[in-house]
Amino acid sequence: MKYIDEFRKANLIHRAAAAIREMTPGYGINIMEVCGTHTQNFFRFGLDKLLPGNLNFIAGPGCPVCVSSQEYIDKAIAYARQGNTIVVTFGDMLRVPGTTSTLEKERAGKGNVLVAYSALDALALARKKPEHKIVFLAVGFETTASTIALSIMEAKKEKLRNLLFFPSLKTIPSAMSYLLRDKRLNLSGFLCPGHVSAIIGTKPYEFAPEKYGVGCCVAGFEPLDILEGIYFLVRQIVNKKALVENQYSRVVTRTGNFKAQRVISAVFRESDDVWRGLGRIPGSGLKLKNDFLEFDAEKVMPLKIKHVGLSQKQKLCRCGQVIKGLITPDECPLFRKICSPENPYGPCMVSIEGTCNAYYKYH
Ligand code: SF4
Repeated sequence: MKYIDEFRKANLIHRAAAAIREMTPGYGINIMEVCGTHTQNFFRFGLDKLLPGNLNFIAGPGCPVCVSSQEYIDKAIAYARQGNTIVVTFGDMLRVPGTTSTLEKERAGKGNVLVAYSALDALALARKKPEHKIVFLAVGFETTASTIALSIMEAKKEKLRNLLFFPSLKTIPSAMSYLLRDKRLNLSGFLCPGHVSAIIGTKPYEFAPEKYGVGCCVAGFEPLDILEGIYFLVRQIVNKKALVENQYSRVVTRTGNFKAQRVISAVFRESDDVWRGLGRIPGSGLKLKNDFLEFDAEKVMPLKIKHVGLSQKQKLCRCGQVIKGLITPDECPLFRKICSPENPYGPCMVSIEGTCNAYYKYH
């Protein structure tokens, strides 16, 4: 198949769902879809209604906006308040609630905040506005890390002194490893993200079957891709043989994209990082290597932010548990009552990749 429409054909979707129903044993099976785009499309195309109830799908931490820590958001807001500084960010970050404000509110006030589609936009802006400091909010996973790394290399080549990066880049396999150690989740399989895997390949997931006996399947994002990925995982569970399988072989290989990996490792080093809901995970972040520290916003413009307590309503937000897969959004007391995509109380409702957003719109 070549065209998107072919992956959305109703008769093929129903056949694939029937094959899964036929194969699924009667006991409960927990499958985590790591990536927010899988969660979104799973509900958007109504796949949840076609599959047996004992197949439990747990939304994972693969939404970069959702897992950025509260402190990170507060610091981004503080950068937007610095005179002569322009914060450049992906649009999803604008409405993520910080402790007392959002980037959107700052933009409506005196803050300088611009939305970009990629780090290359920040690079172009830095060339155009040498009198301003440009701070790019570098959030995302391995897919985004490669273009950000390229922009940093280019900035170094051009000796741009006014472009800074505030990194909160994270790596997916380390979060999966952390979640596998949490026995409460009792995971039987991971549906792994196609875009991240296009960069890293399927090899980095091999620890899951080898060390934990839990299978993985990399899948694309169209309905048939998702169903085929689930079929592969259920087959592994029925056969009691955990593997790493690749449903998305039209894009993903075992070893991934060497060029992108080389660029990432030239600019970034592995470091510990804090994930909202999961806490500090060793080796799960990417920070700038010593050769590129002149582009590190935290080194060049260190900030001290005042810690203010959360409001009573913010304290009720249960994004942390949603991200960890411990509860579904409707178990949060604010869901649909006061928290909605128009009026989000937590990042999981802001981003289109957020689990609360997907539940609100489609579930
Ligand atoms: Fe947070 Fe809103 Fe989701 Fe509740 S419904 S966990 S408040 S984002």
